Amino acid sequence: AGLHTLEAGVSVCRACPRLVRWREDVAHAKRASFAGEPYWGRPIPGFGAEHPAILVVGLAPAANGANRTGRIFTGDRSGDWLFASLHRVGLANQATSVHAADGLELPETRLVAAVRCAPPLNKPTPQERDTCAPWLDREVALVADTVRVVVALGSFGWDAALRTYRRAGYGVPVPKPRFGHGAEAFLAAPGGAAGDGVTLLGCYHPSQQNTFTGRLTETMLDEVLGRAAALARM
Ligand code: SF4
Repeated sequence: AGLHTLEAGVSVCRACPRLVRWREDVAHAKRASFAGEPYWGRPIPGFGAEHPAILVVGLAPAANGANRTGRIFTGDRSGDWLFASLHRVGLANQATSVHAADGLELPETRLVAAVRCAPPLNKPTPQERDTCAPWLDREVALVADTVRVVVALGSFGWDAALRTYRRAGYGVPVPKPRFGHGAEAFLAAPGGAAGDGVTLLGCYHPSQQNTFTGRLTETMLDEVLGRAAALARM
């Protein structure tokens, strides 16, 4: 039961016709540089610790990244940045994530996507976002006992995390906390003792759009993930 049942369930989901078509079309056509490789072409489950202290919420799988390798953030440029940083701050056993059987371990951290199928232009519609939200809700519920810190990659991940935790009964500050790199918000657990809850951290998404332009540097990424590690161990 639990996370494994969830993984099995999500990996055969076909609830969004446009995304099903796109993930399968890309898997069929293949990028020239991966022409000889199999493509996963399905929804991407969460990956990492089963009892995580840190939950990282991304946007959606990359068409030729996770949609190819079957593991979140694996085999694309965003993942190159993310895993190198997780390794530098002591949250990953290796700095690279190339394919799904490369031995990568995240002992304290779990990675999830707010939308689990690769969308055209990396842009899910609001309807697709809402259709996929129950998968995130279920995953968050399954790891709620141990998660202390949630790192949201980009404003899409930030808003998805706030909506999911609000649905789960957590206290979300009013007015709604604004996304920014290094932004922090405390979400109090429902019926919990004082200090019980999760800290939400905002982090620019390590997409090429941000890393190529210098909007996000390695140091900036390390600062937020290092802060997450420190909070998780407090
Ligand atoms: Fe299912 Fe989510 Fe993929 Fe839509 S995006 S088909 S809800 S897994």
